[in-house]
Amino acid sequence: MKFADLHLHTSFSDGTFSPEELAGHGQRLGFAAMALTDHDSVEGCARMAAACGAAGIEFITGAELTAEHDDTEVHLLGYFLDTQNKRFLAEIAKFQAVRQNRIREMVARINELNIPLEAESVFALANCKSPGRPHVMVEAGFCKTADEAFARFLKKNRPAWVPKAKMSALEGVELIHQAGGLAVMAHPGLNRTDEIIPALVNAGLDGIECFHTKHSTAMSERYLEMADKFHLLVTGGSDCHGFSKGKPIIGTVKLPYEHVEKLKAKVGSRGAGPANPQ
Ligand code: AMP
Ligand code: ZN
Ligand code: FE
Ligand code: FE
Repeated sequence: MKFADLHLHTSFSDGTFSPEELAGHGQRLGFAAMALTDHDSVEGCARMAAACGAAGIEFITGAELTAEHDDTEVHLLGYFLDTQNKRFLAEIAKFQAVRQNRIREMVARINELNIPLEAESVFALANCKSPGRPHVMVEAGFCKTADEAFARFLKKNRPAWVPKAKMSALEGVELIHQAGGLAVMAHPGLNRTDEIIPALVNAGLDGIECFHTKHSTAMSERYLEMADKFHLLVTGGSDCHGFSKGKPIIGTVKLPYEHVEKLKAKVGSRGAGPANPQ
């Protein structure tokens, strides 16, 4: 049986593994295919493609966009993106700037709590264009783990939380399509996005992430039924950001390869962009 992991982060956003380390884990676990889905970034795709190629793993380009529809936050996964697509790159660059400005605002709020922290040290830790909340606070040393930092400071309505400007989900679907990609709703069980699924389907949503580390079996079954009902492709991935409790998260979700074949058939039938960045 062949398996894939289609939701992975590297240090090009808020993951801790380099593309080479991530591909190494994928090889050790016997994955046939992997997609890289860094937040608002395709920068790691070229290195990930090379590392997967060397490890005999099929690589699929991707990115994860933070969007909203009717005040509901939804994460969109784009797959088989043309990583040179000018409009896509220009658009994600805007959201990288939003992320960087947000870090400065969060640091200012943390400073108001009389906790010394400098934005520059967060940027130095992040060392990428798509810094995120996981990079804040852990750096300051006041919280031992990102989990603790989220619970005390960074979650919605906690003292250091700053709302993030998001793209419209309908525009996000179109942005992914014009870059030759397939648009997939990420971890619907975490964002409570059920009500907005029909609107996204009307906008051309291609798939839904039924399998995710934080989905219960019941959730996965619920979204498999939704996929059936709305004629959506099925995806899945670990959403690995690195180690958790001493173990890498990659390996917790093994998507049967037949779903990758269905994704490829759809992208092929559209005559969409290349599967690999060259
Ligand atoms: P941001 O992109 O800055 O809004 O941060 C969101 C990211 O923070 C997610 O993609 C996860 O990597 C991480 N995250 C979200 N919630 C938690 C949590 N409770 N504990 C640890 N990390 C989290
Ligand atoms: Zn993340
Ligand atoms: Fe997400
Ligand atoms: Fe993710």
